[in-house]
Amino acid sequence: NNLMLEIRGLVVEYRTEDETVQAVNDINLWIEKGKSLGLVGETGAGKTTAALSILNLLPETTGVIVDGTITLDGEAIIRKNRDGKSVSAMTDSDMQKIRGDKVAMIFQDPMTALNPIFTVGYQIAEAVKLHQKCSNKQAEKKAEEMLELVGIPASRKDEYPHQFSGGMKQRVVIAMALACNPVLLIADEPTTALDVTVQAQVLEMIKGLSEKLGTSVLMITHDLGIIAEMCDEVSVMYAGAIVEHGTLEDVFDRTRHPYTRGLFNSLPNIQNRTARLKPIRGLMPDPSNLPMGCAFADRCDYATEKCRGEKPRKQWLTDSHFVACHLYEDGRDEDRL
Ligand code: SF4
Repeated sequence: NNLMLEIRGLVVEYRTEDETVQAVNDINLWIEKGKSLGLVGETGAGKTTAALSILNLLPETTGVIVDGTITLDGEAIIRKNRDGKSVSAMTDSDMQKIRGDKVAMIFQDPMTALNPIFTVGYQIAEAVKLHQKCSNKQAEKKAEEMLELVGIPASRKDEYPHQFSGGMKQRVVIAMALACNPVLLIADEPTTALDVTVQAQVLEMIKGLSEKLGTSVLMITHDLGIIAEMCDEVSVMYAGAIVEHGTLEDVFDRTRHPYTRGLFNSLPNIQNRTARLKPIRGLMPDPSNLPMGCAFADRCDYATEKCRGEKPRKQWLTDSHFVACHLYEDGRDEDRL
């Protein structure tokens, strides 16, 4: 088995007294060892919910994995029990170990991971010690190495987070995340808060380091430009479902789903630099009240009666490329947009 991460049939709900919202609706995702998958879609599509499920980090009282299995490096870490309540295939302490040792997560705001009252060197060393048996000295040395690796002079180890710029802070977080040699790095909009040049540097660094260390990457973003730079494969998520998946070339050069096409048209600089930007009209449907048919129908230029009445099923067009859209029901891999 060459898969580092495999998610099958994942269904996640948020439950409050008043309503149940299906945030993730039966998705499959997989990442090969050493490869990177981009999960792209608008805010609210369910990307972060899917990622948090991997580590069983959903909000405790409201987020529920209703169905599905998640396998990491051949080992089931989440398996839904019949009662739909107890979802972890592991004890809390095993899960805790997985979180630090095998999977690391980077968020948009570096300060969610950094503590303002400790020096950066101390924080990286603590992360190392938490997950590896080593002496204080060894942990400090590793912290210095990691700082250098992310392009920060080790001499700055005794400085505090506020002494670093946003981009530098995110580098520290990456150093901390990779210090424990995780097999999977989940990066959730890691550069959204940074300005464009710093963004490019940080992405370049994540890419270089993950290649060097052989880490698989799940890159979550609303930005197809980032996917183009970083990823081997792409899953496009809309209203809790994966609507298109393929290699980078499949999705960029042979775009099939109207929503994916819409994402490209709403972005500058990709595919056609001279074209006018054309945002996708309308809004994603309320996840607590999804339409009966295709969730994209109200925004889609190709929608038919059938689209409004019946959910499109996943259709593989080639060995590597699938789409969930009635336009491709015959399974032919043709440009129909
Ligand atoms: Fe558009 Fe219909 Fe395809 Fe949905 S199924 S994306 S409404 S053409």
